[in-house]
Amino acid sequence: MNERITQELAEFLDGLKREGLYKEERIIDSPQGREIEVGGKAVLNFCANNYLGLSDDRRIIKAAQDAMDEWGYGLSSVRFICGTQALHKRLEAAISSYLRSEDTILFSSCFDANAALFEPLLGEEDAIISDELNHASIIDGVRLSKARRLRYAHSNMAELEDRLKESQGSRRRLIVTDGVFSMDGDVAKLGEICTLAERYDALVAVDDSHATGYLGATGRGSVELCGVEGRVDLITTTFGKACGGASGGCISGRRLLIDLYRQRARPYLFSNTVAPAICGGTLKVLELLKSDTTLRERTLQNAHHFRRLMEQAGFDLIKAETAIVAVMVYDEAKAVELASRLLEEGIYVIGFSFPVVPKGKARIRVQLSAAHSNEDIIRAANAFTSVGRAMGLIS
Ligand SMILES: *Cc1c(COP(=O)(O)O)cnc(C)c1O
Repeated sequence: MNERITQELAEFLDGLKREGLYKEERIIDSPQGREIEVGGKAVLNFCANNYLGLSDDRRIIKAAQDAMDEWGYGLSSVRFICGTQALHKRLEAAISSYLRSEDTILFSSCFDANAALFEPLLGEEDAIISDELNHASIIDGVRLSKARRLRYAHSNMAELEDRLKESQGSRRRLIVTDGVFSMDGDVAKLGEICTLAERYDALVAVDDSHATGYLGATGRGSVELCGVEGRVDLITTTFGKACGGASGGCISGRRLLIDLYRQRARPYLFSNTVAPAICGGTLKVLELLKSDTTLRERTLQNAHHFRRLMEQAGFDLIKAETAIVAVMVYDEAKAVELASRLLEEGIYVIGFSFPVVPKGKARIRVQLSAAHSNEDIIRAANAFTSVGRAMGLIS
């Protein structure tokens, strides 16, 4: 690498460090769980997407091991060559049944599912209308399509309607939104979105990665919570969060659309199939969720409890009713400092800053899990309160 590039990159990375934007990886010396080991110390984990506490669940681990014993470690193939086992079809059918959709196609991640979502369906004559806070993988997926791109201010339905009017001449239109917005924790206005889509003859796609498994009466996500089942054409989601947390994702929805993706989705055609262990583990998660809603209830009770304690302490929280509690700090360096001081108190959280959230909107995203106990939650809120006071964030 030449000297100029070396110098430019070193300066760029140093700049990130000065602005508090440099992301350090913390090494975890234990399995994922309510309590993890970091730097030789046991700390309570409040920043995992492990909403149902299933990441280290013995039943899921056993199911993954059994699937590996029965189906092998890897397939060394994409789906359409020799990478489809009965196990993959079983998982796709189980997801369709759980999400009450017509069909499902698996991907190695939801990032890949979103990379696949737009390009096969929407070309130059078409339009994609996207919430400004949608996940990075949606933004990247949209970029891969030649369709016209329109954005609306976060959850602003009047703006969404304007964009629908602006794009009246398009052949096909698709509205795409996160079900739960990952950095704020609020739920999309899916009822209104579907009504507008029906009025303007647009398709609707919802990325329910932060909702599948715990939100809605039986954990079917924001689509269930908002009562719009059957009105959403496409759902993308991940198994890498509430549903065991390993990896894998899917697009689930209308049969014809899923058929199209099997023919044309590039991450499906050109990237390896999902490993048997992941399929077996995820199937077990779905089986558990069908028979028992106590975990999801616990997740939401815990979130509610923590939110109440933090409000009482005077923290500036983004309003939401999910397992994500966004504690606004605004200043990047302060968010990093708050997180590292909390870690000293045995509470593991992370400061989020640009490019994950807009500049000047740094925050701590606290994520509650069914695995947390009441005492854990009180301990976390107390630590926030004492460090927050010491830093002058609350009075
Ligand atoms: C986490 C997340 C993804 C990515 O999921 P992976 O399976 O980890 O690739 C996609 N969309 C949203 C909204 C997410 O929160």
